[in-house]
Amino acid sequence: MNAIKSPYDLAIIGAGIGGLALGTILSARGKRVLILEKNSWVGGRVTSYERDGFQIDLGAHVISRSDKGPLGEILRLAGKENRVTFQYVRPLTSFQGKIFAFPRGLEELIPGRDFQDLMRMLQTMTSMTDAETHEFDLEDLRSYIQRFTRNPLSVSCLNNICMVYVCLPYFEASAGEFIRCLKWEAGARASGYPEGGCRSISEALADFIREKGGKILTTAPAAKILVRDNAVRGLESPGAFFPARTIISNADPYHTVIELTGREFFPDDYLEKVQSLTYSYSMLNLRLALKEPVASWKLLTHIGSDNPELYEENTRADLVPDDVSIFCPVPSNFAPAVAPPGRQLLTAGAIIPYSTSRIEEWREAILKTLDRLIPGYRDKLLWVEKTTPADINQAVGESGAIIGAGQSTGQVGKNRLPSETPVQGLYLCGSEAGGSGVGIELAIRSAQDLAEKICR
Ligand SMILES: Cc1cc2nc3c(=O)[nH]c(=O)nc-3n(C[C@H](O)[C@H](O)[C@H](O)COP(=O)(O)OP(=O)(O)OC[C@H]3O[C@@H](n4cnc5c(N)ncnc54)[C@H](O)[C@@H]3O)c2cc1C
Repeated sequence: MNAIKSPYDLAIIGAGIGGLALGTILSARGKRVLILEKNSWVGGRVTSYERDGFQIDLGAHVISRSDKGPLGEILRLAGKENRVTFQYVRPLTSFQGKIFAFPRGLEELIPGRDFQDLMRMLQTMTSMTDAETHEFDLEDLRSYIQRFTRNPLSVSCLNNICMVYVCLPYFEASAGEFIRCLKWEAGARASGYPEGGCRSISEALADFIREKGGKILTTAPAAKILVRDNAVRGLESPGAFFPARTIISNADPYHTVIELTGREFFPDDYLEKVQSLTYSYSMLNLRLALKEPVASWKLLTHIGSDNPELYEENTRADLVPDDVSIFCPVPSNFAPAVAPPGRQLLTAGAIIPYSTSRIEEWREAILKTLDRLIPGYRDKLLWVEKTTPADINQAVGESGAIIGAGQSTGQVGKNRLPSETPVQGLYLCGSEAGGSGVGIELAIRSAQDLAEKICR
């Protein structure tokens, strides 16, 4: 093993969007950063690959506030805002053959009184201050909604948005966290998608870190975090040792604490918190390459049932429904370069249990749901490719979770696992510790908050 005297101020485990955002902020503040990434690519879940001229994202990414949220702040800090151009997307909702924009489109579909109740609730949510939202961190979203409305379609639409934001059903998600996601997104009105696919985001940030003298080693898994006298001393990777007095892990807390560091360095109550973390749901994601355009929308979420509790119970029992709730962005409708000229790239993702034994049935049920939304699309199909929860688990861990640690009532705000750990110099960063918001923004906000603590 080569002992290297580190020319770096700190080491980051993982080049996911959380690790890259932190590396960007610290590089901009004059720190020299070393990042070890186990995969051969940077970006973790925020990456894309090519097949037959189609640029396919590993995840199904629509970014909540695009350049008007934390991602825009990081890109501007790196001076890379011109490298990533966002196309804004106004999402549509579909239910039982009707396609509408939430919430205004519901005016035609539900009684007037119910519509007013819904609008009153949305107005209450969006006018809260950030501090006020925390009053609802411990309340689940369902019980909060029931103060205003019990209309099945209103409730199903809100559960659907909750699934998109935090990938948990509304009876598990924290109302406070949902309200923050909603009010931030509604305030910006800038949900969007990067023109070059999601890879363009991660690559722009990685380039900035390198330009500032940082080093990103890919295919370089961290194998051990060395601790002495309750303080980190360095990182082992196969064939190399990197001394470091500050180590930030963008990897899963369980992996970082238990597998990389060792139980013996942590108090029991902290181990208990890490071991009992629960994660967001996992997804089967289909990508459909089409000979010619078949769908006119940019982003559609289809609601399979207006009984979210029953739908959820059946999903957990691995019972495949006829009408599947799907998240269906059409990336080539807002970023034409992700498909060859004249072709269309359509994605359709559905929440499924991680341990499903029915992947092929889920796949076929999603395709049949699309038959009803887009009659005749199969005649234009070139191929269908799928990403399963096991694929996501293999790429980034965390049981294939879509987001990371779930934003449920016990795991947000003051109850979220903090970025600081009991070991001096060891921190966590990304969508598993600290932060608030939707997916990518959650991970970036975790990095932004941690950077303030490290540089204090
Ligand atoms: C199918 C899917 C769809 C999604 N859709 C959206 C969406 O539309 N909008 C949205 O905002 N978010 C979406 N997300 C969620 C979003 O992608 C994640 O919340 C976010 O990217 C998490 O970033 P992260 O940096 O915390 O973690 P990760 O992306 O998991 O990065 C962690 C990194 O650490 C590395 N690592 C782990 N262990 C080690 C080790 N021992 N040594 C070195 N490296 C290691 C991993 O390889 C990985 O690169 C989606 C995710 C999926 C899977």
